[in-house]
Amino acid sequence: MDVIEQQKKWFSQGHTMSYAFRKRQLLKMKKMLETFEDPLLKALKYDLNKSAFEAYTTEIAFLKAEIKEQVKSLKKRMEPEKVKAPLSHTGTDNYIKKDPYGTVLIIAPWNYPLQLAIAPAIGALAAGNTAVIKPSEMTPMVSWVISRMVEEFFPPHILKVMEGGKEITQQLLAEPFDYIFFTGSERVGKIVMQKASEQLIPVTLELGGKSPALVHKDADVTVAARRIAWGKLINAGQTCIAPDHVYVHEEVKEDFLKAYDKAVKQLYGEEPLNNKDYVKIVNFDHFTRISNYLDNGRLALGGETDENRNKIAPTVLTDISENDPVMQEEIFGPILPVLEYRELQDVVQTISQKPKPLALYYFGENEEEQEYVTSSLSFGGGCINDTLYHIINPHLPFGGVGSSGMGSYHGKYSFDTFTHFKSITKQTTKWDPDFRYKRDEKSLKIIKNLL
Ligand code: NAD
Repeated sequence: MDVIEQQKKWFSQGHTMSYAFRKRQLLKMKKMLETFEDPLLKALKYDLNKSAFEAYTTEIAFLKAEIKEQVKSLKKRMEPEKVKAPLSHTGTDNYIKKDPYGTVLIIAPWNYPLQLAIAPAIGALAAGNTAVIKPSEMTPMVSWVISRMVEEFFPPHILKVMEGGKEITQQLLAEPFDYIFFTGSERVGKIVMQKASEQLIPVTLELGGKSPALVHKDADVTVAARRIAWGKLINAGQTCIAPDHVYVHEEVKEDFLKAYDKAVKQLYGEEPLNNKDYVKIVNFDHFTRISNYLDNGRLALGGETDENRNKIAPTVLTDISENDPVMQEEIFGPILPVLEYRELQDVVQTISQKPKPLALYYFGENEEEQEYVTSSLSFGGGCINDTLYHIINPHLPFGGVGSSGMGSYHGKYSFDTFTHFKSITKQTTKWDPDFRYKRDEKSLKIIKNLL
Protein backbone atom coordinates (compact mmCIF):
# COMPACT_ATOMS: atom_id res chain seq x y z
CA MET A 1 0.00 0.00 0.00
CA ASP A 2 1.25 3.44 -0.91
CA VAL A 3 0.61 4.94 2.49
CA ILE A 4 2.75 2.34 4.25
CA GLU A 5 5.58 2.88 1.79
CA GLN A 6 5.30 6.64 2.39
CA GLN A 7 5.34 6.17 6.16
CA LYS A 8 8.32 3.81 6.00
CA LYS A 9 10.23 6.23 3.80
CA TRP A 10 9.49 9.16 6.09
CA PHE A 11 10.48 7.14 9.12
CA SER A 12 13.74 5.96 7.55
CA GLN A 13 14.72 9.57 6.90
CA GLY A 14 14.88 10.08 10.66
CA HIS A 15 12.24 12.84 10.97
CA THR A 16 10.53 11.23 13.95
CA MET A 17 13.63 10.90 16.10
CA SER A 18 13.77 14.34 17.71
CA TYR A 19 12.09 15.40 20.90
CA ALA A 20 10.78 18.58 19.25
CA PHE A 21 9.07 16.62 16.47
CA ARG A 22 7.39 14.18 18.83
CA LYS A 23 6.23 16.87 21.21
CA ARG A 24 4.76 18.75 18.27
CA GLN A 25 2.77 15.69 17.20
CA LEU A 26 1.37 15.22 20.70
CA LEU A 27 0.32 18.85 20.95
CA LYS A 28 -1.26 18.60 17.52
CA MET A 29 -3.17 15.59 18.77
CA LYS A 30 -4.48 17.66 21.68
CA LYS A 31 -5.49 20.50 19.40
CA MET A 32 -7.18 18.01 17.07
CA LEU A 33 -9.32 16.63 19.91
CA GLU A 34 -10.27 20.13 21.05
CA THR A 35 -11.16 21.25 17.54
CA PHE A 36 -13.25 18.17 16.84
CA GLU A 37 -14.79 17.82 20.29
CA ASP A 38 -18.27 18.73 19.15
CA PRO A 39 -18.43 16.40 16.10
CA LEU A 40 -16.90 13.62 18.20
CA LEU A 41 -19.54 14.01 20.92
CA LYS A 42 -22.28 14.02 18.29
CA ALA A 43 -20.87 10.92 16.59
CA LEU A 44 -20.61 9.05 19.91
CA LYS A 45 -24.21 9.99 20.63
CA TYR A 46 -25.29 8.79 17.19
CA ASP A 47 -23.43 5.48 17.17
CA LEU A 48 -23.88 4.45 20.81
CA ASN A 49 -26.17 7.02 22.43
CA LYS A 50 -23.34 8.07 24.72
CA SER A 51 -24.27 11.18 26.68
CA ALA A 52 -21.93 14.15 26.40
CA PHE A 53 -20.87 13.52 30.02
CA GLU A 54 -20.03 9.85 29.47
CA ALA A 55 -18.41 10.47 26.08
CA TYR A 56 -16.30 13.29 27.43
CA THR A 57 -15.13 11.54 30.60
CA THR A 58 -14.48 8.07 29.19
CA GLU A 59 -13.11 9.05 25.80
CA ILE A 60 -12.00 12.65 25.26
CA ALA A 61 -10.80 13.55 28.77
CA PHE A 62 -9.02 10.21 28.99
CA LEU A 63 -7.07 10.99 25.82
CA LYS A 64 -6.22 14.52 26.90
CA ALA A 65 -4.88 13.20 30.22
CA GLU A 66 -2.83 10.62 28.34
CA ILE A 67 -1.34 13.31 26.06
CA LYS A 68 -0.55 15.55 29.02
CA GLU A 69 1.20 12.74 30.88
CA GLN A 70 3.16 11.72 27.80
CA VAL A 71 4.30 15.28 27.01
CA LYS A 72 5.37 15.84 30.62
CA SER A 73 7.69 12.84 30.68
CA LEU A 74 8.62 12.59 27.00
CA LYS A 75 12.14 14.02 27.22
CA LYS A 76 13.10 11.73 30.10
CA ARG A 77 11.56 8.68 28.41
CA MET A 78 13.49 9.30 25.20
CA GLU A 79 16.88 9.53 26.91
CA PRO A 80 19.20 6.55 26.58
CA GLU A 81 19.35 4.65 29.84
CA LYS A 82 22.83 4.11 31.22
CA VAL A 83 23.34 0.71 32.83
CA LYS A 84 26.05 -0.89 34.96
CA ALA A 85 28.53 -3.44 33.59
CA PRO A 86 30.60 -6.30 35.05
CA LEU A 87 34.36 -6.11 35.55
CA SER A 88 34.92 -7.77 32.17
CA HIS A 89 33.57 -4.58 30.60
CA THR A 90 35.94 -2.18 32.29
CA GLY A 91 36.39 0.90 30.12
CA THR A 92 33.04 0.55 28.34
CA ASP A 93 29.88 2.62 28.37
CA ASN A 94 26.67 0.60 28.35
CA TYR A 95 23.29 2.01 27.58
CA ILE A 96 19.85 1.28 26.18
CA LYS A 97 18.73 3.37 23.26
CA LYS A 98 14.98 3.93 23.03
CA ASP A 99 14.35 3.09 19.41
CA PRO A 100 10.97 3.43 17.71
CA TYR A 101 9.88 0.31 15.85
CA GLY A 102 8.96 2.18 12.68
CA THR A 103 5.50 1.97 11.17
CA VAL A 104 2.76 0.73 13.43
CA LEU A 105 -0.71 -0.67 12.73
CA ILE A 106 -3.43 0.08 15.30
CA ILE A 107 -6.69 -1.88 15.05
CA ALA A 108 -9.54 -0.61 17.22
CA PRO A 109 -12.91 -1.98 18.39
CA TRP A 110 -16.23 -0.17 18.60
CA ASN A 111 -17.02 0.05 22.33
CA TYR A 112 -14.80 3.07 23.11
CA PRO A 113 -14.29 3.79 19.43
CA LEU A 114 -12.43 7.06 19.89
CA GLN A 115 -10.35 6.31 22.96
CA LEU A 116 -9.17 2.89 21.77
CA ALA A 117 -8.17 4.18 18.33
CA ILE A 118 -6.32 7.28 19.55
CA ALA A 119 -4.74 6.20 22.89
CA PRO A 120 -2.37 3.71 21.23
CA ALA A 121 -1.57 6.31 18.55
CA ILE A 122 -0.47 8.75 21.29
CA GLY A 123 2.02 6.15 22.55
CA ALA A 124 3.13 5.26 19.03
CA LEU A 125 3.86 8.88 18.05
CA ALA A 126 5.46 9.70 21.42
CA ALA A 127 7.85 6.80 20.90
CA GLY A 128 8.72 8.12 17.41
CA ASN A 129 6.74 5.81 15.15
CA THR A 130 4.43 6.57 12.29
CA ALA A 131 1.02 4.90 12.47
CA VAL A 132 -1.97 3.65 10.54
CA ILE A 133 -5.24 3.44 12.48
CA LYS A 134 -8.03 1.07 11.48
CA PRO A 135 -11.14 2.15 13.46
CA SER A 136 -14.15 -0.12 13.89
CA GLU A 137 -16.72 -0.25 11.11
CA MET A 138 -19.42 -0.93 13.73
CA THR A 139 -19.38 2.71 14.84
CA PRO A 140 -19.28 4.30 11.38
CA MET A 141 -19.96 7.90 12.40
CA VAL A 142 -17.12 7.94 14.93
CA SER A 143 -14.87 6.20 12.41
CA TRP A 144 -15.68 8.89 9.85
CA VAL A 145 -14.98 11.77 12.26
CA ILE A 146 -11.68 10.17 13.36
CA SER A 147 -10.67 9.86 9.73
CA ARG A 148 -11.58 13.48 8.94
CA MET A 149 -9.85 14.96 11.98
CA VAL A 150 -6.65 13.00 11.48
CA GLU A 151 -6.61 13.98 7.83
CA GLU A 152 -6.96 17.63 8.80
CA PHE A 153 -4.18 17.60 11.39
CA PHE A 154 -1.66 15.01 10.17
CA PRO A 155 -0.08 14.23 6.81
CA PRO A 156 -0.57 10.57 5.82
CA HIS A 157 3.15 9.82 6.08
CA ILE A 158 2.90 10.42 9.85
CA LEU A 159 -0.60 9.28 10.78
CA LYS A 160 -3.31 7.86 8.57
CA VAL A 161 -6.76 6.39 9.19
CA MET A 162 -7.93 3.51 7.01
CA GLU A 163 -11.68 3.07 7.33
CA GLY A 164 -13.59 -0.08 6.43
CA GLY A 165 -14.54 -3.59 7.44
CA LYS A 166 -12.56 -6.69 8.13
CA GLU A 167 -11.41 -6.89 4.48
CA ILE A 168 -9.40 -3.72 5.07
CA THR A 169 -7.92 -5.20 8.26
CA GLN A 170 -7.02 -8.32 6.35
CA GLN A 171 -5.27 -6.28 3.66
CA LEU A 172 -3.44 -4.28 6.30
CA LEU A 173 -2.35 -7.45 8.08
CA ALA A 174 -0.54 -8.54 4.92
CA GLU A 175 1.60 -5.37 4.94
CA PRO A 176 5.12 -5.23 6.40
CA PHE A 177 4.32 -3.23 9.55
CA ASP A 178 6.93 -3.07 12.28
CA TYR A 179 4.42 -3.46 15.13
CA ILE A 180 0.74 -4.33 15.45
CA PHE A 181 -1.40 -3.10 18.31
CA PHE A 182 -4.78 -4.81 18.36
CA THR A 183 -7.75 -4.18 20.64
CA GLY A 184 -10.76 -6.44 20.22
CA SER A 185 -12.06 -9.94 20.69
CA GLU A 186 -10.10 -13.07 21.47
CA ARG A 187 -11.35 -14.59 18.21
CA VAL A 188 -9.95 -11.83 16.01
CA GLY A 189 -6.88 -11.52 18.26
CA LYS A 190 -5.91 -15.03 17.19
CA ILE A 191 -6.29 -14.10 13.50
CA VAL A 192 -4.13 -11.02 14.04
CA MET A 193 -1.42 -12.97 15.84
CA GLN A 194 -1.43 -15.66 13.19
CA LYS A 195 -1.05 -13.12 10.38
CA ALA A 196 1.63 -11.23 12.32
CA SER A 197 3.60 -14.45 12.87
CA GLU A 198 3.98 -14.91 9.10
CA GLN A 199 6.20 -11.82 9.06
CA LEU A 200 7.39 -12.10 12.68
CA ILE A 201 5.79 -8.76 13.53
CA PRO A 202 5.59 -8.13 17.28
CA VAL A 203 2.08 -7.65 18.65
CA THR A 204 0.20 -6.25 21.59
CA LEU A 205 -3.20 -7.88 22.00
CA GLU A 206 -5.71 -6.06 24.18
CA LEU A 207 -8.53 -8.59 24.41
CA GLY A 208 -11.53 -9.21 26.63
CA GLY A 209 -13.08 -12.05 28.60
CA LYS A 210 -15.28 -12.62 31.62
CA SER A 211 -14.06 -10.37 34.43
CA PRO A 212 -15.48 -11.43 37.80
CA ALA A 213 -16.30 -9.36 40.87
CA LEU A 214 -16.29 -10.89 44.35
CA VAL A 215 -18.26 -9.47 47.24
CA HIS A 216 -17.11 -11.02 50.49
CA LYS A 217 -19.06 -11.08 53.74
CA ASP A 218 -17.00 -8.27 55.30
CA ALA A 219 -17.50 -5.92 52.33
CA ASP A 220 -19.29 -2.61 52.61
CA VAL A 221 -22.16 -4.00 50.57
CA THR A 222 -23.78 -0.67 49.73
CA VAL A 223 -20.53 0.75 48.38
CA ALA A 224 -19.78 -2.53 46.57
CA ALA A 225 -23.18 -2.53 44.87
CA ARG A 226 -22.87 1.12 43.81
CA ARG A 227 -19.39 0.65 42.40
CA ILE A 228 -20.28 -2.60 40.63
CA ALA A 229 -23.42 -1.03 39.14
CA TRP A 230 -21.43 2.00 38.02
CA GLY A 231 -18.70 -0.15 36.42
CA LYS A 232 -21.15 -2.56 34.88
CA LEU A 233 -23.55 -0.03 33.41
CA ILE A 234 -21.18 2.57 31.97
CA ASN A 235 -21.56 2.13 28.23
CA ALA A 236 -24.41 -0.34 28.99
CA GLY A 237 -21.93 -3.05 29.97
CA GLN A 238 -20.00 -2.78 26.71
CA THR A 239 -16.70 -2.26 28.48
CA CYS A 240 -13.86 -4.75 28.24
CA ILE A 241 -13.14 -4.48 31.98
CA ALA A 242 -16.76 -4.26 33.15
CA PRO A 243 -17.56 -6.72 35.93
CA ASP A 244 -19.07 -9.50 33.86
CA HIS A 245 -20.64 -11.43 36.75
CA VAL A 246 -20.44 -11.32 40.53
CA TYR A 247 -19.83 -13.92 43.23
CA VAL A 248 -21.49 -12.79 46.47
CA HIS A 249 -21.05 -14.39 49.87
CA GLU A 250 -24.32 -16.04 50.89
CA GLU A 251 -24.58 -13.97 54.10
CA VAL A 252 -24.70 -10.67 52.17
CA LYS A 253 -26.41 -11.74 48.97
CA GLU A 254 -29.88 -10.35 49.78
CA ASP A 255 -28.38 -7.05 50.97
CA PHE A 256 -26.30 -6.87 47.83
CA LEU A 257 -29.31 -7.43 45.55
CA LYS A 258 -31.29 -4.70 47.32
CA ALA A 259 -28.35 -2.30 47.21
CA TYR A 260 -27.72 -3.03 43.51
CA ASP A 261 -31.36 -2.33 42.71
CA LYS A 262 -31.13 0.99 44.57
CA ALA A 263 -27.84 1.88 42.89
CA VAL A 264 -29.31 1.25 39.43
CA LYS A 265 -32.25 3.52 40.20
CA GLN A 266 -29.92 6.22 41.47
CA LEU A 267 -27.87 5.98 38.29
CA TYR A 268 -30.62 5.64 35.66
CA GLY A 269 -33.97 6.23 37.37
CA GLU A 270 -37.05 4.01 37.56
CA GLU A 271 -37.19 3.53 33.79
CA PRO A 272 -33.64 3.15 32.49
CA LEU A 273 -34.87 2.34 28.97
CA ASN A 274 -36.36 5.82 28.80
CA ASN A 275 -33.36 7.52 30.32
CA LYS A 276 -31.97 9.63 27.49
CA ASP A 277 -28.41 9.04 28.65
CA TYR A 278 -28.61 5.26 28.86
CA VAL A 279 -26.32 3.81 26.21
CA LYS A 280 -27.74 1.51 23.55
CA ILE A 281 -26.37 -1.83 22.40
CA VAL A 282 -24.20 -1.22 19.37
CA ASN A 283 -26.34 -3.12 16.85
CA PHE A 284 -29.23 -5.54 16.49
CA ASP A 285 -27.00 -8.64 16.33
CA HIS A 286 -25.46 -7.84 19.69
CA PHE A 287 -28.88 -6.83 21.04
CA THR A 288 -30.23 -10.27 20.09
CA ARG A 289 -27.17 -12.10 21.40
CA ILE A 290 -27.42 -10.40 24.81
CA SER A 291 -31.24 -10.64 25.00
CA ASN A 292 -30.95 -14.40 24.61
CA TYR A 293 -29.39 -14.55 28.08
CA LEU A 294 -32.50 -13.08 29.72
CA ASP A 295 -34.12 -16.47 30.27
CA ASN A 296 -31.12 -17.84 32.17
CA GLY A 297 -31.72 -18.40 35.91
CA ARG A 298 -34.20 -16.13 37.68
CA LEU A 299 -34.83 -12.50 36.82
CA ALA A 300 -34.15 -10.45 39.96
CA LEU A 301 -34.07 -7.01 38.34
CA GLY A 302 -34.79 -5.46 34.95
CA GLY A 303 -35.19 -7.71 31.94
CA GLU A 304 -36.99 -5.12 29.79
CA THR A 305 -35.78 -4.55 26.25
CA ASP A 306 -36.53 -2.09 23.46
CA GLU A 307 -35.69 -3.63 20.13
CA ASN A 308 -36.44 -0.48 18.17
CA ARG A 309 -33.65 1.34 19.99
CA ASN A 310 -31.40 -1.67 20.76
CA LYS A 311 -31.68 -1.01 24.49
CA ILE A 312 -31.59 -3.56 27.32
CA ALA A 313 -32.41 -2.49 30.87
CA PRO A 314 -29.92 -3.06 33.70
CA THR A 315 -30.66 -6.64 34.64
CA VAL A 316 -29.75 -9.02 37.44
CA LEU A 317 -30.00 -12.78 37.08
CA THR A 318 -29.86 -15.06 40.12
CA ASP A 319 -30.00 -18.87 40.48
CA ILE A 320 -27.31 -19.04 37.86
CA SER A 321 -25.02 -22.03 37.49
CA GLU A 322 -21.59 -22.12 35.90
CA ASN A 323 -23.09 -24.18 33.06
CA ASP A 324 -25.67 -21.58 31.99
CA PRO A 325 -25.09 -19.95 28.58
CA VAL A 326 -24.63 -16.54 30.24
CA MET A 327 -21.56 -17.93 32.02
CA GLN A 328 -19.87 -19.26 28.87
CA GLU A 329 -18.88 -16.08 27.01
CA GLU A 330 -18.17 -12.43 27.73
CA ILE A 331 -21.63 -10.83 28.18
CA PHE A 332 -20.64 -7.35 27.00
CA GLY A 333 -24.02 -5.97 28.00
CA PRO A 334 -25.93 -4.73 31.09
CA ILE A 335 -26.84 -8.17 32.46
CA LEU A 336 -25.28 -9.12 35.78
CA PRO A 337 -25.41 -12.79 36.82
CA VAL A 338 -25.13 -13.06 40.61
CA LEU A 339 -23.70 -16.32 41.96
CA GLU A 340 -23.57 -17.23 45.61
CA TYR A 341 -20.70 -18.78 47.61
CA ARG A 342 -19.87 -19.85 51.14
CA GLU A 343 -16.08 -20.34 51.12
CA LEU A 344 -13.73 -17.83 49.50
CA GLN A 345 -11.31 -20.66 48.62
CA ASP A 346 -14.03 -22.31 46.53
CA VAL A 347 -14.59 -19.20 44.40
CA VAL A 348 -10.86 -18.73 43.96
CA GLN A 349 -10.63 -22.35 42.87
CA THR A 350 -13.52 -21.91 40.41
CA ILE A 351 -12.03 -18.76 38.86
CA SER A 352 -8.55 -20.30 38.66
CA GLN A 353 -9.87 -23.02 36.38
CA LYS A 354 -11.23 -20.54 33.84
CA PRO A 355 -9.38 -18.49 31.22
CA LYS A 356 -7.42 -15.65 32.82
CA PRO A 357 -9.69 -12.58 32.95
CA LEU A 358 -8.76 -9.06 31.89
CA ALA A 359 -9.93 -7.67 35.25
CA LEU A 360 -10.92 -8.85 38.70
CA TYR A 361 -12.61 -6.89 41.46
CA TYR A 362 -12.55 -7.89 45.09
CA PHE A 363 -14.76 -6.27 47.72
CA GLY A 364 -13.89 -6.95 51.35
CA GLU A 365 -12.09 -5.22 54.20
CA ASN A 366 -9.77 -7.95 55.50
CA GLU A 367 -6.28 -7.32 54.11
CA GLU A 368 -5.16 -10.94 54.30
CA GLU A 369 -8.11 -11.99 52.20
CA GLN A 370 -7.46 -9.14 49.74
CA GLU A 371 -3.90 -10.37 49.44
CA TYR A 372 -5.01 -14.00 49.15
CA VAL A 373 -7.35 -13.28 46.24
CA THR A 374 -5.03 -10.93 44.34
CA SER A 375 -2.04 -13.30 44.70
CA SER A 376 -3.81 -16.59 44.07
CA LEU A 377 -5.37 -15.63 40.76
CA SER A 378 -3.87 -14.53 37.47
CA PHE A 379 -5.70 -11.63 35.78
CA GLY A 380 -4.78 -8.53 33.76
CA GLY A 381 -5.37 -6.00 36.54
CA GLY A 382 -8.14 -4.88 38.82
CA CYS A 383 -9.25 -3.16 41.99
CA ILE A 384 -9.83 -3.88 45.62
CA ASN A 385 -13.12 -2.29 46.68
CA ASP A 386 -13.76 -0.64 43.33
CA THR A 387 -14.31 -1.32 39.64
CA LEU A 388 -12.62 0.20 36.56
CA TYR A 389 -10.58 2.75 38.52
CA HIS A 390 -7.24 1.08 37.80
CA ILE A 391 -7.59 1.96 34.11
CA ILE A 392 -7.77 5.67 34.86
CA ASN A 393 -4.39 5.78 36.59
CA PRO A 394 -1.77 6.47 33.86
CA HIS A 395 0.97 5.17 36.14
CA LEU A 396 -0.48 1.65 36.04
CA PRO A 397 0.08 -0.59 33.01
CA PHE A 398 -3.15 -1.72 31.38
CA GLY A 399 -3.33 -5.08 29.63
CA GLY A 400 -4.38 -8.69 29.81
CA VAL A 401 -2.71 -12.00 30.47
CA GLY A 402 -3.32 -15.37 28.86
CA SER A 403 -6.51 -15.31 26.84
CA SER A 404 -7.25 -11.70 27.89
CA GLY A 405 -4.23 -10.50 25.96
CA MET A 406 -0.53 -9.77 25.97
CA GLY A 407 1.43 -6.58 26.48
CA SER A 408 0.21 -3.41 28.13
CA TYR A 409 0.01 0.34 27.64
CA HIS A 410 -0.93 3.78 29.07
CA GLY A 411 1.59 6.44 30.13
CA LYS A 412 5.14 5.11 30.36
CA TYR A 413 3.95 1.66 29.35
CA SER A 414 2.63 3.00 26.04
CA PHE A 415 5.96 4.60 25.32
CA ASP A 416 7.74 1.35 26.19
CA THR A 417 5.33 -0.77 24.16
CA PHE A 418 6.13 1.13 20.98
CA THR A 419 9.86 1.25 21.73
CA HIS A 420 12.54 -1.25 20.95
CA PHE A 421 15.12 -1.30 23.74
CA LYS A 422 18.36 -1.36 21.80
CA SER A 423 21.39 -2.39 23.86
CA ILE A 424 24.71 -0.73 23.11
CA THR A 425 28.15 -1.42 24.53
CA LYS A 426 30.61 1.31 23.62
CA GLN A 427 34.06 -0.20 23.92
CA THR A 428 37.34 1.59 24.52
CA THR A 429 40.21 1.19 22.08
CA LYS A 430 42.76 2.26 24.68
CA TRP A 431 43.52 -1.37 25.51
CA ASP A 432 42.91 -4.72 23.89
CA PRO A 433 44.32 -7.45 26.19
CA ASP A 434 45.41 -10.74 24.67
CA PHE A 435 43.62 -13.09 27.10
CA ARG A 436 40.35 -12.58 25.22
CA TYR A 437 41.80 -14.05 22.04
CA LYS A 438 43.83 -16.90 23.53
CA ARG A 439 42.57 -20.27 24.62
CA ASP A 440 45.27 -21.10 27.17
CA GLU A 441 45.02 -21.87 30.90
CA LYS A 442 46.21 -18.42 31.98
CA SER A 443 43.58 -16.63 29.89
CA LEU A 444 40.85 -18.90 31.22
CA LYS A 445 41.87 -18.05 34.80
CA ILE A 446 41.71 -14.31 34.09
CA ILE A 447 38.31 -14.66 32.42
CA LYS A 448 36.97 -16.70 35.36
CA ASN A 449 38.11 -13.96 37.73
CA LEU A 450 36.59 -11.20 35.66
CA LEU A 451 33.23 -12.88 35.29
P1 NAD B 1 -13.62 -7.48 17.13
O1 NAD B 1 -12.47 -8.38 17.45
O2 NAD B 1 -14.79 -8.07 16.45
O3 NAD B 1 -13.12 -6.29 16.16
C1 NAD B 1 -11.97 -5.51 16.42
C2 NAD B 1 -11.38 -5.04 15.11
O4 NAD B 1 -11.01 -6.18 14.33
C3 NAD B 1 -12.32 -4.20 14.25
O5 NAD B 1 -11.61 -3.08 13.77
C4 NAD B 1 -12.71 -5.12 13.13
O6 NAD B 1 -12.85 -4.45 11.90
C5 NAD B 1 -11.54 -6.09 13.01
N1 NAD B 1 -11.98 -7.43 12.57
C6 NAD B 1 -13.14 -8.05 12.86
N2 NAD B 1 -13.18 -9.29 12.31
C7 NAD B 1 -12.00 -9.43 11.65
C8 NAD B 1 -11.41 -10.49 10.88
N3 NAD B 1 -12.06 -11.63 10.67
N4 NAD B 1 -10.18 -10.28 10.39
C9 NAD B 1 -9.51 -9.14 10.58
N5 NAD B 1 -10.02 -8.11 11.30
C10 NAD B 1 -11.24 -8.25 11.83
O7 NAD B 1 -13.98 -6.77 18.49
P2 NAD B 1 -15.17 -5.77 18.78
O8 NAD B 1 -16.45 -6.50 18.69
O9 NAD B 1 -15.02 -4.53 17.97
O10 NAD B 1 -14.88 -5.38 20.31
C11 NAD B 1 -15.34 -6.13 21.39
C12 NAD B 1 -14.25 -6.98 21.99
O11 NAD B 1 -13.09 -6.20 22.24
C13 NAD B 1 -14.65 -7.56 23.33
O12 NAD B 1 -14.16 -8.87 23.43
C14 NAD B 1 -13.92 -6.66 24.32
O13 NAD B 1 -13.69 -7.25 25.57
C15 NAD B 1 -12.68 -6.38 23.60
N6 NAD B 1 -12.06 -5.13 24.07
C16 NAD B 1 -10.88 -5.18 24.72
C17 NAD B 1 -10.33 -4.00 25.21
C18 NAD B 1 -9.02 -3.97 25.95
O14 NAD B 1 -8.51 -2.88 26.14
N7 NAD B 1 -8.47 -5.09 26.37
C19 NAD B 1 -10.99 -2.80 25.01
C20 NAD B 1 -12.20 -2.81 24.34
C21 NAD B 1 -12.73 -3.97 23.86
